[in-house]
Amino acid sequence: MHETDMTKALIMTVRDWYESQPEQPQIQTIHLIVGQFTCVEPASLQFAFEVQTRNSFLENAALAIQETPLIAFCHPCQKEYHPQMGQQYACPDCQNPMEDIRSGRELKVDRIEYA
Ligand SMILES: [Zn+2]
Repeated sequence: MHETDMTKALIMTVRDWYESQPEQPQIQTIHLIVGQFTCVEPASLQFAFEVQTRNSFLENAALAIQETPLIAFCHPCQKEYHPQMGQQYACPDCQNPMEDIRSGRELKVDRIEYA
């Protein structure tokens, strides 16, 4: 369900870009950056994309997903750490709760390849 809505938003973003182009290019690949902490399943996203782009201007376009890891920053320790997804959202050294996320929440179009 999550991925279905994400895909709708993604297609709308790409369509806006596409329609703003003077000559509508043939889109080949959409490069997407997906943070680990968004809990988006790349396989589900691929599937939703395939289903939702059928018979559309994106029918022949591919989706390339690059996942970024979850990285948090601990202010008392002044260092970055990798929280364990679903287990511990705190600094491993001082147990300070995770509050400053530096990476892992992204969900954005990195670039669009077209002919
Ligand atoms: Zn710490």
